Amino acid sequence: MRFSKLALALSIGGAVFASSTFANGLNAGPGAEMVPTGKGYGINGHSQSLDDHGNAKPGGGGHSSNGIDYHGGPVMLGTTNVHYIWYGQSGWPNSTQSAILTGYPSSTGGSPYFNINTTYYNGSNTHVSNSVHYSGSVSHAETYGTSLTDAEIQQIVADTNPTDTNGVYFVLTGPDVTASSGFCSQYCGWHTHASILGQDIKYAFVGDAATQCPSGCMAQTTSPNGDAGADGMVSVIAHELEEAVTDPDLNAWYDRRGAENADKCAWTFGTESTASNGSKYNVVLGGKQYLVQQNWVNASGGYCSMSY
Ligand SMILES: [Zn+2]
Repeated sequence: MRFSKLALALSIGGAVFASSTFANGLNAGPGAEMVPTGKGYGINGHSQSLDDHGNAKPGGGGHSSNGIDYHGGPVMLGTTNVHYIWYGQSGWPNSTQSAILTGYPSSTGGSPYFNINTTYYNGSNTHVSNSVHYSGSVSHAETYGTSLTDAEIQQIVADTNPTDTNGVYFVLTGPDVTASSGFCSQYCGWHTHASILGQDIKYAFVGDAATQCPSGCMAQTTSPNGDAGADGMVSVIAHELEEAVTDPDLNAWYDRRGAENADKCAWTFGTESTASNGSKYNVVLGGKQYLVQQNWVNASGGYCSMSY
């Protein structure tokens, strides 16, 4: 997930990921293959590029006709477990914020929205399941301060002794915390994986933008559930979870520009409805109204949607 204003501007400009406005290493010449970073932008891949990529590979690789390609890596199969790790000032999240944030992974499984991910599959043609389980949360003291490096975010995950290889561990930070590799300037959240305690652990970062960059990482400042920071995080959590299940190791599903499924629909919301407080929502999950980004359907030529 990249910074919203940047993404929108570049999408409209049509020069999306080849733009020279990016920092070192983020450019690609014509025809170069890009690979995802998990942060919403691609970087140059290996030099195989066109020849190699243009040849369909049995059981992996090759182009689909849906605007996103399979590159041979694993997808997450069966029920995906979502683990939350809170990292923020005392009192965050409060009960309202916690209910908003935990409500999403508790209710998205089985929904027409999450079902979009079932259009993705591995080299054995086994598809992602429409099944998500919220596995609960732990709180991590602010022992690494309030400006976290990527390494510190990985260490926060490691500190919880993660063992669930079918899980995605979300480091959710409060409004007092930033991520030094580019929260609010390069991205609103990201996902990746690492070998932690000998296991391939998938994890993600999502920050509360309410006080740091409401215009950059939140779609609206009045929200359906009464806390715009937490409501805004849900949209980013949804985005990262969709990418984690279809591209957990950054080598499965992405397009020629390194954009993963949710990147292709970032900050688009489809048909919106108006909540009683005047804010917008586009899906109801577990009795809560949410405004979450669309996701890319890997069927019928490919398109952004809120359901499949
Ligand atoms: Zn993304």
